[in-house]
Amino acid sequence: MPMPHANTLNFSAGPGALPAAVLAQVRDAIAALPETGVSVLGMSHRSDWFLAILDEAERHVRHLLGLSDRYAVSFLQGGSSLLFATVPMNYATPAFAAPEYVVSGYWSARASAEAGRVGPHRIAWDGQRAGFRELPVLEQLDVDPRAAYLHYVSNETIEGLQFALPARPASVPLIADMSSDFLSKPIDAWHFGMIYAHAQKNLGAAGVTVAVIDRELLTRIPGGLPHILDFRTQIAHGSNYNTPPVFAIYVLTLITRWLRDDIGGLEQVQRINEGKAARLYAVLDEMSDAVTIHAKRPWRSQMNVAFTFGDARLDRAFLDTAEARGMSGLEGHRSLRGLRASLYNAVTPQAVEILCETLIEFALQRA
Ligand SMILES: *Cc1c(COP(=O)(O)O)cnc(C)c1O
Repeated sequence: MPMPHANTLNFSAGPGALPAAVLAQVRDAIAALPETGVSVLGMSHRSDWFLAILDEAERHVRHLLGLSDRYAVSFLQGGSSLLFATVPMNYATPAFAAPEYVVSGYWSARASAEAGRVGPHRIAWDGQRAGFRELPVLEQLDVDPRAAYLHYVSNETIEGLQFALPARPASVPLIADMSSDFLSKPIDAWHFGMIYAHAQKNLGAAGVTVAVIDRELLTRIPGGLPHILDFRTQIAHGSNYNTPPVFAIYVLTLITRWLRDDIGGLEQVQRINEGKAARLYAVLDEMSDAVTIHAKRPWRSQMNVAFTFGDARLDRAFLDTAEARGMSGLEGHRSLRGLRASLYNAVTPQAVEILCETLIEFALQRA
């Protein structure tokens, strides 16, 4: 039996929660779009309706991030995992030294391993032996100034580690996988050569990956790549080279509209996100005798909070308690186990408050 408030108490790491207002619009759109009378699932990707949606999605991303024309915005498929392969295929050319990778958690390790299958790459920093509980300062890494680029994951979704934003442009093009913190706060996009983020953590439904690319990088792409893997192809075709994920792009458009109109922009969403994370970490710190937070303090993520009661049975007991109250998605990733609460944009402060009260009661009962 689904719980009455299951959608509002969804702490899943991905696909993540969506705002109630957007879910209601999506439900209606699956039956029939108000603009066309046809289901969003049956709309042609060549229709005027969809061309306007694509245009609106790009305008919102540009507006929210304050992007200049220097950047192209592209909607891709294959998830962030395909980008792990296509980033080195497009940019790691013999004209530059090997690309450099920060290995700071599960996902950046995956990106780095995939780059290694494409060609030589260098590991600029590796946090694996220390258990992925801390992060380096990007500006202090010893990176070859001739490197094709420096790749990192801005928010390690599984370990719950989040980088501070770079304070200045990097000496080489900086490429960030922002899949789990894109549009959760304002960023200085001009510090980056490329940003990519799939939608299913913070932007809606799985199926689309947003790429923001400094056009200067496009000039470095070698000839001869299969068209579908060459970043220039979707840019030249307005993200409509082959059938795009119409539904996922529609949901992304609604999410970015919601961010602009209902939330009021990225500064506002950042304030809300900071408040949610501060409340949950304060409760967990209060319980520090019983609970271990995976991330060391300076690198705690505002999006994913990974913690454990230190005992699989206790973690299970907490999950059962939380599930009985309608909460879901709190199980840790299979690689780390324990518990994880994801506090993406669509998770409300009220939902976090219910989680916190449940944690406090649970801890009191065991004390
Ligand atoms: C979830 C996640 C991925 C995996 O993305 P797919 O779209 O499933 O390929 C990659 N990077 C980060 C940071 C993630 O959180």
